[in-house]
Amino acid sequence: MKVEILGVGVNKITKGEVLGHVKTYLNSDKPHFIVTPNPEFLVAAQYDQEFKEILNKADLSIPDGFGLMLAASYLKNPLPERITGTDLVYDIARICQEMGKSIYLLGAQPEIAAKAAQGLLKLYPNLKIAGYESGYRTRFYFKLPDLLLLAKINRVKPDVLLVAFGAGKQEKWIDQNLNKLPSLRIAIGIGGAFDFISGQVKRSPKIIQHVGLEWFWRLITQPWRFNRIWTATWRFSKLVRKSKKR
Ligand code: UDP
Repeated sequence: MKVEILGVGVNKITKGEVLGHVKTYLNSDKPHFIVTPNPEFLVAAQYDQEFKEILNKADLSIPDGFGLMLAASYLKNPLPERITGTDLVYDIARICQEMGKSIYLLGAQPEIAAKAAQGLLKLYPNLKIAGYESGYRTRFYFKLPDLLLLAKINRVKPDVLLVAFGAGKQEKWIDQNLNKLPSLRIAIGIGGAFDFISGQVKRSPKIIQHVGLEWFWRLITQPWRFNRIWTATWRFSKLVRKSKKR
């Protein structure tokens, strides 16, 4: 079952149920695409039909944002719980360790994907990390053209691909390339999760996440993100109010 917020379907699902799906997908014989929409995704999707269609055709759409919980309640179709992309990465890593499946980390600044892999290995020492790759072009590192990158991933045949290119870019990349990565059982866009897992960016305290004030934490710790925070709070709520009136 889904709730539709600004034309994007979000699964009404608990974390336990998500993890059940993850296990089923890992035991299946075809790739599955998980998206983790937050308010910023949904605002972006209003102006990007391709992005909206990709979000709507994913196998699982998980609410990663307190704003989605509020919007769903406001639309009188509440979501059971919020599931953050970063927490989900830890859970997927644990399940992969238990099931002997492998993970590939793709995205973030050079060094960060490697540090995130180390962070996961610290918690799950028997986890199979198939590989990792940054998502940027820098002076010391040139971004691999997709063909080379796909060959590199296919050589190590991961079961799970975590893609951190930021909202939209990561989902479009997965949509274009999923059928070229036959070993995959799960591909998921996870935004800034590597930044958190590597310790590069500090997560807000649990209590702040719990009361839905993460945006305020981000405003204080990353004031240069003001525009994005504005989009995720004010612009999002305005669009939801407008959509309800319609
Ligand atoms: N990123 C990337 N390549 C890009 C753009 C972004 O690897 O071309 C990475 C960025 O370094 C970060 C992640 O994507 O680790 C998510 O970026 P952002 O914080 O913008 O997204 P959010 O978490 O807010 O969705």
